[in-house]
Amino acid sequence: DPQLNQNYTFDNFVEGDCNRLARSAGYAVAAKPGGTSFNPLMIYGGVGLGKTHLAQAIGNEIKRSLPDKVVLYVSCEKFTQQFVDALKHNNINDFVNFYQAIDVLIMDDVHNFAGKEKTQDFFFHIFNHLHQTGKQLIITSDKAPKDLAGLEERLLSRFKWGLSADLQVPDLETRMAILKTKVYQDGIDLPNEVLEYVAHNIDNNVRELEGAMVSLLAQSTLNRKEIDLNLAKQMLKNFIKNSTKEISMEYIQNLVCEYFEVPIEMVKSQTRKREIVQARQISMYLAKAHTKSSLKSIGHFFGGRDHSTVIYACQTVEDLIDTDKKFKGYVADIQKKLKMS
Ligand code: ADP
Ligand code: MG
Repeated sequence: DPQLNQNYTFDNFVEGDCNRLARSAGYAVAAKPGGTSFNPLMIYGGVGLGKTHLAQAIGNEIKRSLPDKVVLYVSCEKFTQQFVDALKHNNINDFVNFYQAIDVLIMDDVHNFAGKEKTQDFFFHIFNHLHQTGKQLIITSDKAPKDLAGLEERLLSRFKWGLSADLQVPDLETRMAILKTKVYQDGIDLPNEVLEYVAHNIDNNVRELEGAMVSLLAQSTLNRKEIDLNLAKQMLKNFIKNSTKEISMEYIQNLVCEYFEVPIEMVKSQTRKREIVQARQISMYLAKAHTKSSLKSIGHFFGGRDHSTVIYACQTVEDLIDTDKKFKGYVADIQKKLKMS
């Protein structure tokens, strides 16, 4: 199957909260094509989030475990082109027979059917035939079926028969895991600090993450230089918007709250709960160390407190850093994250 790209497998499709449902549904479909209620399996999500990778991984897994199955991967554009050619050359029958003989049809990027009524009609009939004969359909699209404009209602309603699962933007931890997988796969040596910097700052989609890595490697080869954090920051200037942005109190607050898993409102509230007090004091300490804000404005920002409260907070944090190893570790962790921004 030349249409399947062997490089897209489940093994190298990193799992995270962003893709867990889609990935496991894909796995179930691969184990029993046509034999689950996930038919069609509809995978949707924005550009560069792994739709093609996951859809191809399902196809590759089926070919591996069930080599007799006829698996076809086709993009919506290619299908459209084939259809137009078949019309032109008068061999629609061959075209139909070809598609009806498939056991697993992977149709990528169906949002591109928008406005192509004849092709959609045609696909509708192929879909029905395959579905009725227990064949598996896997469909990807950039939006959920209900939000797909320009597609015929009857086709959309078919898409809703099975399971729709979305791919979301990966969180930091997953981005880091993806980078590590790529580095490992390609046998590249990049310092962890650099990977963390990339994972922290490139958070739109996976394709951009990969793009940043490729760019780093190309530049380091050209310049024959090892990449450290500073060089990486230089090299990625064009990838990262605002790479020299000033650290704000709000940013610190968000980072600290995320780190300790406490709600942001609580830090500004009057509560004396221990974990909240700790998050508040660390936030103040970091605001004093990393912003140009005055003690007065720091106090004001963190819940309308006065400057002596800020002084006390900073003193407390410094004391704890000296005496409490675990606490010192927390602050160091957060400071490392700040440095990444
Ligand atoms: P889409 O089809 O949604 O635009 P792709 O499947 O082409 O996105 O993915 C873009 C790139 O990101 C590919 O190189 C793919 O291998 C990679 N990628 C996406 N998601 C993951 C993931 N969870 N783990 C590893 N690589 C991923
Ligand atoms: Mg794609």
